[in-house]
Amino acid sequence: MKAFYAEEQKRHDPKAFLSSGAPQPNPEKPERIERLLAGARSAGLTIERPGKHGLGPIAAVHSPEYLDFLEHIFPRWQRIEGASAEVIPNIHPIARNGSYPASAVGQAGYHMSDTACPISAETWNSALWSAWSAVEAAEAVMAGAPSAYALCRPPGHHAFADVAGGFCFINNSAVAAQVLRKNSARVAILDVDLHHGNGTQGIFYARPDVLTVSLHADPVRFYPFFWGHADERGEGPGLGYNLNLPLPRKSGDAPFLEALSTAFQRIRAFAPEALVVALGLDAFEGDPFGGLSVTTQGFSRIGEAIAGLGLPTVIVQEGGYLCDALGDNLTAFLTGFGGKQR
Ligand SMILES: [Zn+2]
Repeated sequence: MKAFYAEEQKRHDPKAFLSSGAPQPNPEKPERIERLLAGARSAGLTIERPGKHGLGPIAAVHSPEYLDFLEHIFPRWQRIEGASAEVIPNIHPIARNGSYPASAVGQAGYHMSDTACPISAETWNSALWSAWSAVEAAEAVMAGAPSAYALCRPPGHHAFADVAGGFCFINNSAVAAQVLRKNSARVAILDVDLHHGNGTQGIFYARPDVLTVSLHADPVRFYPFFWGHADERGEGPGLGYNLNLPLPRKSGDAPFLEALSTAFQRIRAFAPEALVVALGLDAFEGDPFGGLSVTTQGFSRIGEAIAGLGLPTVIVQEGGYLCDALGDNLTAFLTGFGGKQR
């Protein structure tokens, strides 16, 4: 299996993070990349640098005003007297009414759902390359590879069409799915990250051509709180094309695999021609977020089960934070999935 990653993805190095109102070091650290690269290599994957793919595949799922904001907000923010070193919002619209603020502070609140996605000088470039890794993996699968892995960092599944959030700026899984749509009438996205893939759900919520399925810790008491509940089923022509499978906190391998088989029933009935796996590894029992209790062996079984769908598959890295087993968990998933044989 080919893997894609570019050095530029390491330069985004967020400092700020508020947890329950208290400043903490941001957990989405560049060091994650070293651990994940080691994990991918241990599974026998070869790492390749993606090419540049311009804004086209990104603009296919994100609004132009949002992309303009991401590209230009940092220098604009720096011109504000007394502003923070990173772009961090402090006011949000409760509901949008169509008006769009001209100020950097207003636009930060409009386009950022929380304080976990600070923007610095390198953020835009890192996010672009992360998305291009996803594009390259999708193109490899379209060219006939049975699967490909995109080491996307910064991650993407909390990014909506025009909103950043939860360490995410460009929704890499959504970008990959939209690229796959060129060759496939129906694409499914299976999100196994600890957190609900709210941005991905939002992007495809009204569409019947991309099925979105997410397994995650129950948001009734867990980030992202406002999305990820079982009654969110899609809207308009997309009604019935979104499936949320919230799990009780600390659920381990057995309930996770059981929910996965429910996900597979829906995916098989949808009969997709290609699959995107939004691969968070933060459902791990030792992950600092502590939401679920999947084991390293569990990730191997999850990988094996997903491979059993027999679909052309793009694996897109989402969460998974610094802990001793982060690399091992990726190795376990990729090896279970079929590793270099696929
Ligand atoms: Zn996560």
